[in-house]
Amino acid sequence: DTNSPFLEFNSSIPENGLVLAWLTRDNTKPLRPVQGSALHTRFGSFQHSSMISSKYGTQLASSSSNQAGFIYLLHPTPELWSLSLPHRTQIVYTPDASYIVQRLRIRPGSKVIEAGTGSASFTHALARTVAKNGRIWTFEFHEPRFEIAKKEIEDHGLDGVVKCSHGDVCVNGFIPACDEILDASAVFLDLPSPWLAIPHLKTVISKEKIVRICCFSPCMEQVQRTIETLQKEGWLDIEMVEVSCKRWEARKEMVRKPQDAIERLRDIRRRRNEGLKKRNERKLAEAQKDEAMSEAQENGAVTPAENHVPDKPFLPSEYNPWGKGKRVHEGEHGYEWKEVSKVEAELKSHTSYLTFAYLPPPVQGKDGHIGSE
Ligand code: SAM
Repeated sequence: DTNSPFLEFNSSIPENGLVLAWLTRDNTKPLRPVQGSALHTRFGSFQHSSMISSKYGTQLASSSSNQAGFIYLLHPTPELWSLSLPHRTQIVYTPDASYIVQRLRIRPGSKVIEAGTGSASFTHALARTVAKNGRIWTFEFHEPRFEIAKKEIEDHGLDGVVKCSHGDVCVNGFIPACDEILDASAVFLDLPSPWLAIPHLKTVISKEKIVRICCFSPCMEQVQRTIETLQKEGWLDIEMVEVSCKRWEARKEMVRKPQDAIERLRDIRRRRNEGLKKRNERKLAEAQKDEAMSEAQENGAVTPAENHVPDKPFLPSEYNPWGKGKRVHEGEHGYEWKEVSKVEAELKSHTSYLTFAYLPPPVQGKDGHIGSE
């Protein structure tokens, strides 16, 4: 029976179970906790022993005495995996993956052909969707990449669902390493020349169901050649889509006026003059104090330890519109604000063109003969 953290949810972290350690928005590290090991990061060290049996989602504080950092211990999902996996190729990110999965109508139990496997990012999204009763046949012609993907799929307990094969689908077609008969109802091609692979599909797709295809290509020339071949091979309803996913944030921005800039320049000048004056005064006072001190020491009045004067506490200056000073919180009373919307830049997505089409099942004649009308 398949036991994969990508297919089932565990509430607590087993020893040697896959954990995605979330350090920052762009840094998530996959690890398997074992007794006696630690994760060392710039936020401190984190003992694996503190991870084992913790709940997934736990915020773990650093065990380093000099660093107060923390990480989150997250449960694996295809979405988080795509952000933490070791890249061997360009990968399909969640915004594209989710759109492709729903356009290809992939669901639990679906049978899907994928080429190439690449870094197996999309393979994980597919596996989670088709679940235990589904099947993914994935093909990769680069041997080391195929070996790594196969091992990763096994390590993640997905080998009951995902069958990895090594081969060039453009030259030899879709010949699986397993002895299964392929009857896919969805096809995803993420390779440089999908038009060479498409003619090989007829023998490995379902004869009873509508079959849907998506080809993922970064150049328009590739899209054009793919469309020509799809048309020639009888695929219908051909449509090209580009997923340009952006998250819009509604925010308040402080209204700043030219007078603020003038104030700011005056403030800089005033503070520089004050600083210079204070520095000179302090130097003079220190010199006088040193003199008085050495005189007193010579007379035996004080010991050197009594010489320490505590630092003056730092007082943050008042708010100044363009410089350092008091921190003003967004929307804070007493300032003028305007409503703006901003694009969040960090959302990861690899822009490619997605070409979709479908192939109806061949028409079955009265005598049971299958022809494709
Ligand atoms: N979709 C994958 C992911 O999300 O990780 C990334 C796929 S990567 C961009 C394309 C892969 O297709 C490469 O690993 C390449 O070696 C493989 N490839 C290219 N041509 C191929 C062919 N004719 N047969 C099999 N694999 C091929």
